Amino acid sequence: MLTMQKLGIHTSRLYNIFISHLHGDHCFGLIGLLTTLGMLKRTQPMHIYAQPDLERLLQPLLDYHANDRLYDIIFHPINPRKHAVIFEDRTVSVETIPLKHGVPTCGFLFKETHRVKNEDGTFGYETRKRYAYCSDTQYSEKIVPIIEGVDTLYHESTFLLSHAERSKEVKHSTAADAAKIASLANVGKLILGHYSARVEDHSLFLQEAKPIFENTILAEENDEITL
Ligand SMILES: [Zn+2]
Ligand SMILES: [Zn+2]
Repeated sequence: MLTMQKLGIHTSRLYNIFISHLHGDHCFGLIGLLTTLGMLKRTQPMHIYAQPDLERLLQPLLDYHANDRLYDIIFHPINPRKHAVIFEDRTVSVETIPLKHGVPTCGFLFKETHRVKNEDGTFGYETRKRYAYCSDTQYSEKIVPIIEGVDTLYHESTFLLSHAERSKEVKHSTAADAAKIASLANVGKLILGHYSARVEDHSLFLQEAKPIFENTILAEENDEITL
């Protein structure tokens, strides 16, 4: 939350939160964010898209820490095992991408849509930028048809080749795995992230990914990336 403020992200413009899975590094920050929004006297509802267990886990904490909040929190249960459209408004749609991880997990495919006027005077929608977020996951070619040709792919890259075995055991990916997926799916750009704390020099991830997929960049904490 403090980081969001420092980066100039206006939480008043944050209406929807998408949670890929319930490992701590992907959801423990939520209670702090939701509590702080309560203290800031937010009134607009917040929508949270996650697998159903999140509501059960979060509700007691919300009752204790954020009971006097002025805004509603609306949970939208999603099935991480199924590829489906889970959100749509006039400018963006969001689809789940079933991933392969230790617990039920899905990535998200964001499609920017624009209303366009057809030649016959009717209106339709045209897809512009597409961004796929895939974390956490081990190597899975099953996602390729869903993310085929996206402009930008974020794919986790927890390990280096030297820990390829360990990577499989704990159901994460190496930088090379991420690059292979990017190449198979013919994406525009690959962003790596979710690095193991054991690897201090992140350029090593880039070194292992680039020979397989050239247009790869590293995501670092607080980076702002234009899609
Ligand atoms: Zn995880
Ligand atoms: Zn994680």
